Amino acid sequence: MKTEYVDLRDGKDVKEGLYKAAEIIKTGGLVAFPTETVYGLGANGLDENAVPKIYEAKGRPSDNPLILHISEFDEIENIVKEIPDVAFVLADEFWPGPLTMVFKKSDIVPYRTTGGLESVAVRMPSNKIARELIKTAGVPVAAPSANSSGRPSPTKADHVLSDLDGKIDMVIDGGTVDIGLESTIVDVTGEVPVILRPGFITEEMLSEAIGRVKTDDAVKNLSPDKDLKPKAPGMKYRHYAPQGKMTIYKGKPEKVVKIINEETAKSEGKKTAVLATDETKRYYKADIVISVGSREDSESIAHNLFDTLRSFDDMGAEIIFSEGFDESRLGFAIMNRLHKSAGYNIVNV
Ligand code: AMP
Ligand code: MG
Repeated sequence: MKTEYVDLRDGKDVKEGLYKAAEIIKTGGLVAFPTETVYGLGANGLDENAVPKIYEAKGRPSDNPLILHISEFDEIENIVKEIPDVAFVLADEFWPGPLTMVFKKSDIVPYRTTGGLESVAVRMPSNKIARELIKTAGVPVAAPSANSSGRPSPTKADHVLSDLDGKIDMVIDGGTVDIGLESTIVDVTGEVPVILRPGFITEEMLSEAIGRVKTDDAVKNLSPDKDLKPKAPGMKYRHYAPQGKMTIYKGKPEKVVKIINEETAKSEGKKTAVLATDETKRYYKADIVISVGSREDSESIAHNLFDTLRSFDDMGAEIIFSEGFDESRLGFAIMNRLHKSAGYNIVNV
């Protein structure tokens, strides 16, 4: 299959491009498109024949459910069984935006979309291209991140093409995404809302809006507990991983720099890389050193994280040393992704 590339970065011919993209979705095809979190790989989420194509293109395990994307609040009525009060408050506060809510699904949502679950995840993205595409398609758009399963999520159209060129009908280039981390997922089906995946919307922000909220025990501790099964099925898979062997070093920056430099010196013959920060970059002596942003600005770290991990692959990094970050607020989501990238390979210094 030839993947059509449509460039909407300059804001020209947007209507025409989105019309074409919407036609593909309506007729059962796949379109990758930008959202404010990461690029999504979209199909008609109510079409049992279209949804399996997403799993096939990504190499995604079939028990890992998809998020349905809507463009207006009314569109939720067809796809969920009931809307708890708390969901109205959260939608009012955070939609459109990087928050996904899990509801009891209605009968029209196929099990292929929900990975066999009785629940369905729904989000209203704020990205203009995403929302306009969903509106034009006129169906809820199932869209997981537009990467090959296991690789870092795509934050640019180039990332999508490097994983999925030839496997999908179209990619819409809307430039680099804003946030760079996937949405926060909150299950609103129980008495107390539960965070299933941390993201840009933090636990503090949620509890400010609705009072009590919990975080799923299986993701509360950044390293997995074999006895706890994550309630978002996708959270159990190895994910966001670069090809090189990656280790996170947590501790005071001066100590981390010293130990990583000792380790790179021992890794002769292998191409070494360091995921550094603006504050520490100049002190490292590895083959590749990339700053993911400033420690003072966790939003910039979230924004650059996946692109940095992909750059290590592009440059052939074989051994990757990463600094760790403060785990409060947005830092918790950053460290959640980083721990998975490193396959939970962590050294406390
Ligand atoms: P992605 O869109 O690639 O970021 O993946 C979607 C995430 O949403 C995965 O971690 C899924 O496990 C999670 N998810 C989707 N639907 C549900 C659901 N009904 N219940 C719990 N988690 C879900
Ligand atoms: Mg994903």
